[in-house]
Order: sequence, then structure tokens, then C-alpha cells
Amino acid sequence: MTNFAPPPGTSDIMPEEIGIWHFMENAAHKVFRLYGYGEIRTPVLEFTEVFIHGLGSETDVVRKEMYTLKDRGGRDLTLRPEGTAGIIRALCATDIFAGSDKKVYYMGPMFRGERPAAGRKRQFHQIGVENAGRILPEFDAECIFMFMHYLQEVGIEGHSLLMSTRATPEDRKPAEKALNEYFSSHISEMCEDCKTRLERNIWRILDCKNPQCAPFISETPDMLGYFGDDSRRHFEKVCSLLDRMNVKYKVEPRLVRGLDYYVHTVFEVTHPGLGAQNALAGGGRYRIRPSGAKKEVEGIGFAAGMERLVMALQNHGTHTQEAPFAYVAPLCAEAVLPCLETAKGLRLANLSTVAEYDPRSLKSALRAAGRISAKFAIVAGENELEKSSFLCKDMKSGTQKEFSMSEIVAQLISQI
Ligand code: AMP
Repeated sequence: MTNFAPPPGTSDIMPEEIGIWHFMENAAHKVFRLYGYGEIRTPVLEFTEVFIHGLGSETDVVRKEMYTLKDRGGRDLTLRPEGTAGIIRALCATDIFAGSDKKVYYMGPMFRGERPAAGRKRQFHQIGVENAGRILPEFDAECIFMFMHYLQEVGIEGHSLLMSTRATPEDRKPAEKALNEYFSSHISEMCEDCKTRLERNIWRILDCKNPQCAPFISETPDMLGYFGDDSRRHFEKVCSLLDRMNVKYKVEPRLVRGLDYYVHTVFEVTHPGLGAQNALAGGGRYRIRPSGAKKEVEGIGFAAGMERLVMALQNHGTHTQEAPFAYVAPLCAEAVLPCLETAKGLRLANLSTVAEYDPRSLKSALRAAGRISAKFAIVAGENELEKSSFLCKDMKSGTQKEFSMSEIVAQLISQI
């Protein structure tokens, strides 16, 4: 450990930076509730099986990136690499199988053992939603629109929406055959991982980031034409609903997303201001059958990376912590208790207050109040104590007034 840095790929988010996080979180609470979603908080630690079962054992996340540990009882646990699998596990304990839909949103840390880079962390944070239980293309379009609404609410512009479909497993077979024929003739020139993928899960080849494979992947035949009628109809319906809602998008047939649970709609939102890691959010329709569940749960959802939302937002003004209403400081030892009481009264009246409890000079008190941009500096020294009063300076106008100690809180409230 050097320089008090946290582990590689993790960060401290300091109070000076947190304003923008609160702003984004508050916007999520506001926008998602407008669509009837409620917040869900599931554990950061889940049984490892939840992810192996939910995300697919051949996905990169499960094969290479999970932080897995054994607890003292010998249980296999994993720090969640994504939100959906754990949330579906939790929803299985509700009446979700009785035909009702569950609309939930979440925010919090996720963990993936990836190589850290700009915009790629090992502990990162996501804001996400799940609408599970019912299958309608209208829900897909609504969910995508809701994220666009969220971006508008926080003031992010210039992003692109990429759409595709994974079809259903049944409708995917002819496409798999076509992919197999295509990649079999190129596989000798592709990476070792792709050779395994060809045998075990051919779709994962389309996710390969190895430059050696890029030229072959970019020439992959268009899969949409190979999918069955039901899957094509679902996708066309979602696209026509987006058109209807005036959402601009581009169909990107090679977008498959990194997890095996997707069916039908998949989408990604990219932003040009993010550099190489340009995905702001991704999501789609999925089917998960948690172990022990009666049947599969189908839903539509997305997750957006909060660090990346912050990066995309950084050009849009500062969202610093609000300046305090008052700065209260004693100028002599006898004034400490009156300062403590007054600070207490201001805070109970919902007025944010920074208080000092060691006596200082008037000059240094006013300098400190200026540094934190307090609206009022409130001080008491021997002169004020004799009159049982505080000196209160309006830091913007520079005007000064004396207030009696017993009435200062009420008097300041009446001035707001
Ligand atoms: P995914 O489901 O993997 O596409 O993740 C959804 C979103 O989370 C991505 O579009 C990114 O914005 C964000 N994200 C995923 N992995 C990371 C990471 N390692 N570091 C930072 N953000 C990430």
C-alpha cells in the first residue's frame, strides 16, 4: 500500500465530488418513480450460484471477473458483478409467478476483476431498473424511453442508442448455424478464447475485444435475417414504438451484450465524451431461472455506469455541495457553549451550519466563513457575551447585526 491509495480499480468519492452523485441519484428516484418503479436494495454478496446460473457459465464476467470467496461457514459467495441476477432471485420470493409485474430500480456498487483503465474500474457503481414478470414489447420501449428521459433530466446530450435483438433461444438456431459456418472458416486466424467460444458458446465471439479477431467480427453476416418470425415481430414492434415516441436509434446487428440471459431486445447507449470505454448504459430483455424457482422469469431492464454518467456530465456545470447557511464560532472560551446551542437550534430548524468549538480571532473566523461560502458568520466574544448577544455578519452584503442569544435562531428564520 502506498500513498494511502485504495486497492487498484477502486476509488474514494470525497465530499467535494459527491454533489454530482447525489444529483444523479435524486434524478433517478424522481424519473423512475414517474413510471411506477420502486427502489429495491439487495445484498452486495450473493451465493456464487446466483450468477453462474443467471449470467451463464461461459460469459467473461463469470469465467474471469468475479470476486468469489468462501465465508467462515464454507459458503461460496460472490461480490455482485451486476444487479439483475440478485434482484430476480429476490423477486422470486414475491408473487411474481402469479402474473403480476414487478418494476424496481436500484443503485449501488458492483465488482468485476477487470484490467483498470480510464472509465473501467473494479468497483464501479450502477443505476439500473428491472421490469419483470410480463412480456410485452411496449414494456421494452417504455424502459428504453425511461432511460432517455433520465438522460434528459440530468442534462446529458450527444449520446447514441444502438438497438438489436438476440431473438429467443428457439428462434436463434438457424442464426447459430450460419455463424458456425462463417467463423469455422476463419477460426484458425482468431484468438485462443474464440476457439473455445466456437465450441462452447459461439455468440460470445461477437463480444471478443481482441484486435486480432476484430476484422472477422466486423464482417459477420447480418443475424437479424436468420431469426424466426416471432422474434422478428417483437423487435419490429419495439422499433416502431420507439419511432412513435420520437426516440432516435441505430440498429446494430452485431450487438449481443456480454451475458447469456438476454432474449429479444438488447440495447446500448454510448457517449462520444467517454473515450475508449464509451458505453454509458446497456440492457435488454432477459430470461432467468434462479435455482429452485418454479419457472423462468422474464423481464426488461438496463444498467448505467454512474462513473461514466459523471464523466459525461462533467461538462455540464458543477454540482458541488450546497454552501452552508451559517458558520458559528466562539471568539473566547466562555462563548463555546452558546455557539454549541445556537448551532443545534439552527440545525433543528433545517439550516445547515458549520460550527467551531475552539476560540479564534474575529479575522480568522470571517476568513473561514468566506472559505466555505457560508451565508452568515455568527460569532461571540467577551463584548457580545456581556450583552448576551451574537454578532451576525451577512457575508454577501457585508452588513452586521447583533441578535440576542435567545432569539437569534427565530430571527434568522424570519429573514429567509
Ligand atoms: P454492462 O451490463 O456490463 O454493459 O454494464 C452496464 C454499464 O455499467 C456499462 O454501460 C457501463 O456504463 C458500466 N460499467 C460496466 N462495467 C464497468 C466497469 N468495469 N467500470 C465502470 N463502469 C462499468
